[in-house]
Amino acid sequence: MQGNKIKVLIVEDNHMNKILVREMLTLNGYEIFEAKSGTEALKMLTAARPDIILMDLHLPEMDGITATRIIKSEERNKSIPVLALTASAMKGEEDKILNKGFDGYVAKPIEMKKLLEAITQSLTKVAGA
Ligand code: MN
Repeated sequence: MQGNKIKVLIVEDNHMNKILVREMLTLNGYEIFEAKSGTEALKMLTAARPDIILMDLHLPEMDGITATRIIKSEERNKSIPVLALTASAMKGEEDKILNKGFDGYVAKPIEMKKLLEAITQSLTKVAGA
């Protein structure tokens, strides 16, 4: 199974959030790639192809919405599901998130059960398409 792990790219500039998500996903058998800005994420995507991307919205250099728009405009990357990591301040804003090209969202503070559900749901959608 070692080579068949689901690859998740985490784009997050907050160190603690990144560690938290990494721990949750590693524990559940996912393989993790990390970027701390939108530009770094785009650079990584030229060399690696994750199965799913978790995207923070507020990032240095390039925000998560812009990075996602670029990812979704690229033929080789547009089928990769992108889930927004949204702050609790954005409660009620989730519909707007989905209109910006994201495939879903996970609200912060991140709960493991909800994170895993959101990932599974997005990957199932892709497989069924
Ligand atoms: Mn951030």
